[in-house]
Amino acid sequence: MTRIPTMLMGADGFEHLPGRRVVRSLDCLQCGYDLNGAEAMGRCSECGMPVPFSLAGSIDPIVHKLSPIPNPQAVGRGLVATACALALLSTAIFIWSCGLAWYLSGGSGSAARFSLPPVPLWLPARLWWYIGLAIVAIGGLALWSFKPQAGGRVPVGTVRSVLLLAIGVLLSALAVAVIPVVSSGFAKPWLLVASPLFPLPGLAIMLVGFRGVLLDVGKRSSTFRRAKVRRQRIPPLLIAIGLVTVAWVSLLLSLQVGESLRAISLAVGLLALIFVAIGCWYLLLNAWWIYAALRVPPERLRDLLTEAELLPSD
Ligand SMILES: [Zn+2]
Repeated sequence: MTRIPTMLMGADGFEHLPGRRVVRSLDCLQCGYDLNGAEAMGRCSECGMPVPFSLAGSIDPIVHKLSPIPNPQAVGRGLVATACALALLSTAIFIWSCGLAWYLSGGSGSAARFSLPPVPLWLPARLWWYIGLAIVAIGGLALWSFKPQAGGRVPVGTVRSVLLLAIGVLLSALAVAVIPVVSSGFAKPWLLVASPLFPLPGLAIMLVGFRGVLLDVGKRSSTFRRAKVRRQRIPPLLIAIGLVTVAWVSLLLSLQVGESLRAISLAVGLLALIFVAIGCWYLLLNAWWIYAALRVPPERLRDLLTEAELLPSD
């Protein structure tokens, strides 16, 4: 069993708990009961969980050592908005690629040269314009949230990260808007097959920019700092995007060569794409943690407790 601590490290140094009481609203870590008024060394009257554990779980001394952000809520919203744009874009590319896999299966050509079916006319052109518009709108909202404050300094990350985000949003929205043109029925079929490649550079640039902001602002969320499995690392996503590119280029080559390469390329490309899409949804979860921490910043341990009794000097 874990030992119950008699003192905790707060933002203002170590605080001895014996003889002190909780004087602010503090949720029990286990059952959520309000521990206001409880003894700091006591137990939750509802579930018996020792109060020091709830105290330790609610404070975050590291946050108080960081320089304050002038507009934490806006920055949190910007982070969530960027993650939404990433999740939307990656999911759209994945679904589109699945549609292309189905389209390719309609082609004939077990022989050396593979022939593509004609470009179907039912493709939802408008949908892509809406997705492109949504990415510009959500991305614009995010960039607005990261804008420099009155003091003239950028509140989060570096200027470079925010600039990369802007470039990524514009590139991917443009690429998405081009997809209906290549699937219009007048374009060459191979251009249609190549279309999932178009938004990938924009997606990769957005991810690099997002990483800079996420790692900088993420220091303010203890959930984000401590998370291991549920925290999405961005470099593996960039590697997966590279893998998708390689797989799709070999898919295009396979249109000349034949079936065997086509199946492998398609399988590798789709697997890497689903990895990217799931990773982007995890990034949204991570961004939400950070938003929650920025919206309700943790209290200082000293403010949660009554004054310390004078300790006998030893
Ligand atoms: Zn409890």
